[in-house]
Amino acid sequence: LTRLYGPLTALSNVHVDVMSALVSFDRVFEILDLKPLISDKPDAEPLPEGARRIEFDDVHFRYPAAEEVSLASLESVARPENGRPKQVLNGVTFTAEPGELVALVGPSGAGKTTITALVSRLYDVTSGSVRVGGHDVRDVTLDSLRDAIGVVPQDAHMYHETIRANLEYARPGATDEEIAAALKAAQIWDLIESLPEGLDTVVGDRGYRLSGGEKQRLALARLLLKAPGIVVLDEATAHLDSESEAAVQRALKTALAGRTSLVIAHRLATIREADKILVVDDGRIAEQGRHEELLARGGLYAELYRTQFAHQSPAA
Ligand code: ATP
Repeated sequence: LTRLYGPLTALSNVHVDVMSALVSFDRVFEILDLKPLISDKPDAEPLPEGARRIEFDDVHFRYPAAEEVSLASLESVARPENGRPKQVLNGVTFTAEPGELVALVGPSGAGKTTITALVSRLYDVTSGSVRVGGHDVRDVTLDSLRDAIGVVPQDAHMYHETIRANLEYARPGATDEEIAAALKAAQIWDLIESLPEGLDTVVGDRGYRLSGGEKQRLALARLLLKAPGIVVLDEATAHLDSESEAAVQRALKTALAGRTSLVIAHRLATIREADKILVVDDGRIAEQGRHEELLARGGLYAELYRTQFAHQSPAA
């Protein structure tokens, strides 16, 4: 996920910098004489508020070849050794119903991150369709689509600014009460309250250094402030101490409640709780179902469970 959202984060940094010079995002592309790969159709309509259902219908996808990408110098597009990039998704069909927690598991390189990227329309499908709230993502405005989706990458980025400023990105004009409520729900309020400068503490490499677990909980507080109907989350693989692990898990539960979530799952607790587990293998959904069903089937999931998840403590 970091690979895909990295360039986007880099671009949003550009956005922040140029905003202060009162130059718009579009203007950056104009200045650089680049066209974004994905843009609104002329008749694109905003996605209606409250859209939460995600549907993939026979989605095939390959990453665009470098020559097709006018942003090639900015995006990290893998260049195939020879010829065209390989097909990454080969007919992916599934539904995430409103409010469901859907866990994506599968071997490295299977296509999990790519599936999540297509929900936010970072790329267009080669064939088939991705629908959100019943609308093909190509028919709605990108702004409205991305407003409806909260993305929590594995390694959430915090700007070298105050905690308050980092959270206000999620909801401009948020009051201190709203920010405090989000921080409480994300299980990080006690820490912030204990800092001499509280919400005015500057974070980052040159400020207060947040641990991995703290950053994740701040990212979840951001999500709570943004309050999107849909969440795309890449669970951290990094080892957390058991106290922070339990706090992250509680925060996660609150942050995902009532939202449709697509989670690239690395924690046993998450996959056990998932309403649906999608086992992704070689660009296909090899199996889908709940934890017990899939274990009983004795297929790829059972194998993955033995190698990746079984050794984790149930609280993890
Ligand atoms: P992991 O668990 O290792 O993160 P994954 O299941 O999320 O893997 P993806 O990251 O979706 O898998 O990758 C699927 C395939 O697409 C891989 O072969 C990968 O090399 C390729 N791929 C991923 N990102 C790009 C890109 N930006 N350009 C070209 N190919 C890519």
